[in-house]
Amino acid sequence: MTRHRSVRVGSVGSVGSVVAALAVAVAGGGQARAQGQQQPQALVVQQLAPNVYWASGGGGNSGIIIGDSGVIVIDAKTTPASGKALLDEIAKLTPKPVTHVIITHSDGDHVNGLASFPADVKVIAHAGAKKEMEAALAAGGRGAPPADHMPSQVIDRDSERLMLDGVPIVVRHWAPAHTSGDLVVQLPQQRIVFTGDIITNRPDPLIHLQKNGSSAGWITTAQGIAGLDADKFVPGHGDVETKAQVQAQVTSATDKRARIAELVKQGKSLDDVRAALGEPAPAPNGRGAGGGGGGFASFTEVVYQELTAGRR
Ligand SMILES: [Zn+2]
Repeated sequence: MTRHRSVRVGSVGSVGSVVAALAVAVAGGGQARAQGQQQPQALVVQQLAPNVYWASGGGGNSGIIIGDSGVIVIDAKTTPASGKALLDEIAKLTPKPVTHVIITHSDGDHVNGLASFPADVKVIAHAGAKKEMEAALAAGGRGAPPADHMPSQVIDRDSERLMLDGVPIVVRHWAPAHTSGDLVVQLPQQRIVFTGDIITNRPDPLIHLQKNGSSAGWITTAQGIAGLDADKFVPGHGDVETKAQVQAQVTSATDKRARIAELVKQGKSLDDVRAALGEPAPAPNGRGAGGGGGGFASFTEVVYQELTAGRR
């Protein structure tokens, strides 16, 4: 997602505490955006465990993990300005340099803030995400990732154990889900998971078919996330969730997908399916009804397209 969103300061589970509730207005926020879309961006940093934090605002949620000799960041926010704001927040927590950035997927609101990161930072991403970033770079334009911060360590296995700055981290990929290159980041010792946009605060999963995302892969992936030995799940957008909240999203999406499949089997049109699910028809000049929003195809539309592909 690339929309600006308001951020709230809330408690995180039982041990969370608000570390830096200072709203930081970022001067010149949104340099990479068209004029007229610029708004002040605010970051809010909250603690999850000793040496582990998450930062909302300025794009997708980011993780901050302070290791022995350096800092590992998960996702880099949307613009050079919001990436810089994240680095400024990290500097308030520790003088250690940022050594690694793990990218949960290729969307600009998680990647493009890399432009402000140190030149020698190691960028870790799934092979699918790297491919998508290379395609976006080749296409150019406003959403393109910074050419000098492309992934330098590629993950192409289902799970890989990393030791970064003395911190054990497991990165996982089950299937194409939100995109083809989703990476879920698990801190086994702290029982924390950073889900990327597999989990967000939307009512339904967000799937980018144009990046070869998949609703079936989403269910596999979200089930995998819910099955991890963890208590705190930091979504790509929105507040930290419990395992029960993640599980509820899996159940809801699984049920909805099965219902759509049944309606497709009956030969229903997309409009019929929407009506049967009680979802409004999309606005004449855009998509996004029924839980889509933000200009993205709704889950219903995605599932319908997947299940009817090749029939038309
Ligand atoms: Zn995304």
